[in-house]
Amino acid sequence: MVDVQDLHKSFGDNHVLTGITGQIRERQVVCVIGPSGSGKSTFLRCLNRLEEATSGTVQVGDYDLTDPKVDINQVRRHIGMVFQQFNLFPHMTVAENIMLAPVELGNLSKAAARQRAEELLNRVGLADKAGARPASLSGGQKQRVAIARALAMSPKIMLFDEATSALDPEMVGEVLQVIRDLADEGMTMVLVTHEMGFAREVADRVLFMDGGTIVEAGTPSEIFDHPQQPRLQEFLSKVL
Ligand code: ADP
Ligand code: MG
Repeated sequence: MVDVQDLHKSFGDNHVLTGITGQIRERQVVCVIGPSGSGKSTFLRCLNRLEEATSGTVQVGDYDLTDPKVDINQVRRHIGMVFQQFNLFPHMTVAENIMLAPVELGNLSKAAARQRAEELLNRVGLADKAGARPASLSGGQKQRVAIARALAMSPKIMLFDEATSALDPEMVGEVLQVIRDLADEGMTMVLVTHEMGFAREVADRVLFMDGGTIVEAGTPSEIFDHPQQPRLQEFLSKVL
C-alpha cells in the first residue's frame, strides 16, 4: 500500500528527514513513535504530499507522489488524515462537515452524502449530533467527527498525527476506541502517537524515529520489550 524509498526532506538548510525507507502493507496498522522534532509529522505529511519530498520516492497505492505529473487531488481522495487540531468548519453543522468533500468532489449526491454522514456518525457514537455545531461539542466528540469526515471519502488508508494529544485525558479513550474499531475492521493506518500502551495494543508494526530517520522498527513486543538501539532504550525510559 505504501512504499517509501530513501525519503529526504529539507526546510532550507534544516535536513529534517535524513533517509526513510519502508513499506506498509494493506490492513497493517503502523505506529510511529519518537521524540519531539524527530520528523514524525513531516514523514506523515509526505505520505499525502502536504510536504513534498526533497528526494527519494513515495508510492501510495498505484500512485507515485514524487512524480510531478501525478494528480494529487485524485491521490488524496484515497488518503484520510486526522490532525491533532480537529480543523472542523465552525460555520457548518457536524453533518455538513462530513458531507462537504464527497459532495464537492462529486463522489456522492447530497442525499447519499447525508446518509453516509449519518452512518459514519453512528459508527463513531455520535448519531445524535448531526445537526450540532462543532463549538457545542467536547474535544473528544470533535475528534470523532473529524475521523468520520476523513472516512466519508472511503479512503484506502488513514493517517493520524497525534490525534489524541490535544484532548483532556478523560476524552482520550473514546477516540482511541474509534481508532481501535477501524483497526479491527482492517483499515490500513499510520498513526503518530504518544500513547505507548495503545501502540503496543493495536500496532502490527512500530517505527521509532529519531533524527529524521527510522532508528528501529519491529513488532510492539520487539520495540517495547526488547529495544536494541540505545536511543530507543533511552526514549522508552523517559516515556514508559
Ligand atoms: P515531530 O512531529 O517528530 O515533532 P516535525 O516533523 O514536526 O517533528 O518537525 C521536525 C523538524 O522539522 C523540526 O525541526 C521542525 O522545526 C521542522 N519543520 C517542520 N515543518 C516545517 C515547516 N513547514 N517549515 C520549516 N521547518 C519545519
Ligand atoms: Mg509532530
